Amino acid sequence: MLCRLAGRLPPPRSARRRRLTDPATGDQLDDGLVLWFPGPDSATGEDVAELHLHGSRAVLAVVIEVLRGLGLRLAEPGEFTRRAFLNGKLDLLQAEAIADLSAAETEAQRRQALRQLGGELGDLYRGWSRRLTRVLAHLEAAIDFPDEDLPPQIENSILEESRALCSEIERHLADGHRGERLRDGIMVAIVGPPNAGKSSLLNRIARREAAITSPVAGTTRDIVEVAIDLAGFPVVLADTAGLRNSDDLVEQEGLRRALQRATEAEIRLFVFDARSPAEACGAAAWPGPDTILVANKIDLVAAGCELPSPALPISALTGEGIDALLSALGERVAQSYRLETPVLTRARHRQALEDAGALLRRSVDALLPELRAEDLRLASRSLGRITGVVDVEDLLDVIFRDFCIGK
Ligand code: GDP
Repeated sequence: MLCRLAGRLPPPRSARRRRLTDPATGDQLDDGLVLWFPGPDSATGEDVAELHLHGSRAVLAVVIEVLRGLGLRLAEPGEFTRRAFLNGKLDLLQAEAIADLSAAETEAQRRQALRQLGGELGDLYRGWSRRLTRVLAHLEAAIDFPDEDLPPQIENSILEESRALCSEIERHLADGHRGERLRDGIMVAIVGPPNAGKSSLLNRIARREAAITSPVAGTTRDIVEVAIDLAGFPVVLADTAGLRNSDDLVEQEGLRRALQRATEAEIRLFVFDARSPAEACGAAAWPGPDTILVANKIDLVAAGCELPSPALPISALTGEGIDALLSALGERVAQSYRLETPVLTRARHRQALEDAGALLRRSVDALLPELRAEDLRLASRSLGRITGVVDVEDLLDVIFRDFCIGK
């Protein structure tokens, strides 16, 4: 096919300049680079050819037209990665990492995706799978001696290893959803009394008019979100409606959503008017290190005036103190999200691990060895589903659907 379009085949994996012509008419289409990757040593495992063309619309249109005439078609989104998976070049975790890498917007997301692509997470899960298979093999061998109880030392070692696996999986699951949050954006809610300057702060940070600021109390009736890159970490800042009791139904709904958002957020910025330090008491509703106190409007406060001690003084109006606030926030985020060990990155993995953990726990409590073996088999299947070793046909569409074209 490549020869018909570009004449002689270039040597494998080496770029050659070629004149591309329409095999039907002999018309020249473009002058470009041609690469040939013979399978199985290609990205997908199949024979792959790459054309580097002058990327104008007219060139692409005519080349695609001619390729169509040769019986080729455009790839579906994710099709290259899907073929690579089906040909054993990648496991499912790595395929998902390619999607994440293509979508990465910040340094931390890029690093996390690359680690997953490198196979770190897959190695961890495959290690568990292997151990589980070994336990199961021991148990099945023991079951095959009928009319006898299991030798106690084998029974004990099976139980011990099952418990150990179960607690390792549970520890891995108890990661505060950090990998998933790093993928989706770390939530920071801006909370505080009405008119404290929350929307103004969000605007100042986003450097654009994302939320309405107005001198009338209670105008931010819904939640406005702005995604920012904070020192390499993806952060979603959410401005919540002013926290105050109200009879207005719309405001009550805003309040309810604000409370929910603030509760779910990883970090809260509690903003209050520096002229009314008593307002800072409202922050007591969210005790702990994940709430940062912010005293706004210091441009209106006389120098030397006392603020509640841990509060960061800022002025959303003049921009004073904003850099210090952002670096405090950045440090706080980095503390939790500079990840040293591989963490799970998707709800899909979490679900499979939770299933595997629950089945392992059930197997430990099972009364009959046959039941125990069945639970171990199911647990092993759950683990296998994460990397794509077993039973994944139904999963493939879900996973590859979100890819962009050309990957
Ligand atoms: P929110 O209800 O907490 O979102 O408060 P807004 O951001 O709507 O601000 C309420 C009012 O305070 C607006 O008139 C803002 O212009 C004003 N404001 C906000 N931040 C500052 C500030 O740092 N200094 C001064 N002088 N006014 C501010």
